[in-house]
Amino acid sequence: MHDRPEDMASRIGADLVRLAKEYAKRFAAGERAWVNVDGVELKVTIPFRGGDGHGVAQAILDQLHDALEEAYVARASYVRGRVHCFRCGTSGCGHAVPPGRKSVFAAYGRTGTPVWEEFAQVCLQRGDGSAARIYGEPPEIVAHYDAGSALRSEQLPDFGRDSKSYRVLGQVTAGYLPLWNEALGGPDKAALTYQAVESRWGSKGFKLDLNAIGPFPKAPKGERQEWLDFTLDRLARQTREQLERVQVESKDAPDLEPLVAPALRKLASSLEKLFRRERRRTGHGNERAREGDRPTGKALEDAAAAQAEEILRDARTGATVVLGPALRVHIFGRTGRHVTSAVYSKDAIERKQRARIWLPVPAAEAAALRRGIEEAASGDEEAG
Ligand SMILES: [Zn+2]
Repeated sequence: MHDRPEDMASRIGADLVRLAKEYAKRFAAGERAWVNVDGVELKVTIPFRGGDGHGVAQAILDQLHDALEEAYVARASYVRGRVHCFRCGTSGCGHAVPPGRKSVFAAYGRTGTPVWEEFAQVCLQRGDGSAARIYGEPPEIVAHYDAGSALRSEQLPDFGRDSKSYRVLGQVTAGYLPLWNEALGGPDKAALTYQAVESRWGSKGFKLDLNAIGPFPKAPKGERQEWLDFTLDRLARQTREQLERVQVESKDAPDLEPLVAPALRKLASSLEKLFRRERRRTGHGNERAREGDRPTGKALEDAAAAQAEEILRDARTGATVVLGPALRVHIFGRTGRHVTSAVYSKDAIERKQRARIWLPVPAAEAAALRRGIEEAASGDEEAG
C-alpha cells in the first residue's frame, strides 16, 4: 500500500518539529532562554538519484546545531558591561545594567531578575564598618568580595539558578570612585561591579571572563581621570589573565567558584590599596565628590519634620531610618551623617517593619537622633 504524498509530508513535518524541539532542549540543557527562539530555517537538498536519506539527516542535524548555536549565543549569553537577566532570557533588557552610577549588583531575585542596590546601602547591610569608611573624612574606597553562590541563594532553579549560560562565580563591588561624568564634565562618584563569569553554550563552548559593569570613564586627555582609566584597565586585564589560567588548568573541575576566589580577592585588595596610595599623592577627594557627600536638602528637611514614629532604628546596622513624605526613606549613620536616600514601595517599608528590621524608638530617643542629624549636618556646612 502506498502512502499519499500529503500524508507522508505531514508526518515528516511533524517529525521535524519534534526533532527541532528535542534537539533544542538537549542543546540548551534546560535553559529558559530557548522559549525565546522562534524557529530555525533549514535548507536541504533532496537527491533524486542515489542517496538513502543519510546525507539528508546529517544536513538537518548540522543546520539545527549551527542555527541553534548562533541564536543561543546571540540571545542568551554574554555581553561585557551587562549581566544576564534570566527572567527576560537576555542581557539586552533594562534589568541588565545598573540603574545609576552608584548602583552595584546585589543579587539575583527569585525569578532571575538582577537586583541592583546603591553601594552605600550594600555597605550598611554588611554591617562590617565599611559604610563608615566610605563616608569617613577623607572618604575611603571600599571593595567587597561576594561568592557566586551567595548571589544566587534566592534564585529559583526554574529561573536560571543552575544555568551555565551566565554563571557568576563571584564578584567584587567597589565604591565610591571619582570617575569621569560626561554630563557634568568632571569627576563624579561612581560604584563598580566586577563579576567572574562562566559562560557555556552547546557542548563545547566554555569561557571564563571578568565582566566589568559600571560607568567606566573615558576622561579627556590631560585630566586626572586619565590615570584612573589606565589603572582600572590594567587591574581588569591582570584579573582576566588569572581567570584564563583557571580556565586552562581547571575547566573540568566540578566547582570553579573557589578557584576564582583568589583572583577576585586580589582585585578587591588592589582596588583598595591603589586608591589609598592615590589619595595620599593628590590630597583627599575633590570638590565635586565632597559635595556629593552632603545630605540632600530633602533628607534634612524630612528629618526635621519627622514625627517620633517616623524615626526608626535599623536592627542590623544601628543606622537611623527616617520615613519622609512620598515614600522617601533616608538612612543616617550612627553619628548622624546622611548615608543614602531612596524611594521605597509602601510594601517594602511595611515588610521591613514587620520583619523587625526597622524598629520603633521611644520619643525621647527619636528627638535625640533628630538632633544628632541636625548637628552632623551643620558640622558639614562649617567643614565645607
Ligand atoms: Zn530583564
